[in-house]
Amino acid sequence: MLVLHYTGMRDATAALDRLCDPAARVSAHYLVEEDGTIWRLVPESRRAFHAGVSCWEGERDLNSVSIGVEIVNPGHEWGYRPFAEAQMAAVERLCREILQRHPIPGHRVVGHADIAPERKTDPGELFDWPRLAGAGIGIWPEPSAVPSSGPVDHTQALADLATIGYCLAAETPAITAFQRRFRPARIDGVIDNQTAARLNEVQAAFARSRGSGISSGSPSG
Ligand SMILES: [Zn+2]
Repeated sequence: MLVLHYTGMRDATAALDRLCDPAARVSAHYLVEEDGTIWRLVPESRRAFHAGVSCWEGERDLNSVSIGVEIVNPGHEWGYRPFAEAQMAAVERLCREILQRHPIPGHRVVGHADIAPERKTDPGELFDWPRLAGAGIGIWPEPSAVPSSGPVDHTQALADLATIGYCLAAETPAITAFQRRFRPARIDGVIDNQTAARLNEVQAAFARSRGSGISSGSPSG
């Protein structure tokens, strides 16, 4: 897996200090500064401590199967702000190189909030997932136009959420994490008509990525 984070600290120096402090027991394979500087902190062959208590596709020991990239941003606690162009260009280049070395499928490229929705919000709603998907990194289907109100099939929406890979220990945080990544216009943890429609098109894209051909939104079954 490839797990993207923001540092959520005041600046890059504070983040680097913490990631290099053995007592902190946190680490990541890479850190990308706002000016695009990339630090390699842990060899890719080694396990880093970045995912914490987390879950994706029913799998739980994610540090053992993932590469973690920390992207410098103060985060929601210290003043969340857009990711700089030079930084995004570096993230894109780094992720592309990682994917050349490791056959990580699109459905296993995630944000920290996706795998730990009850604890984490990173890299957050300002992160440019569409740009990365355009570069072949992760999955972000173009959203189709959907009316803001309409009937919602709650059961189907939760099934779609699980198909994508979210673990449903708690529903609202998982929906919120999904919205942060795939429907950032409104992040409230509520399965409204647009969220339900977005869930369905995203799960179809994830299902295609897995090669299963299962798409609950298509009549073919
Ligand atoms: Zn994180």
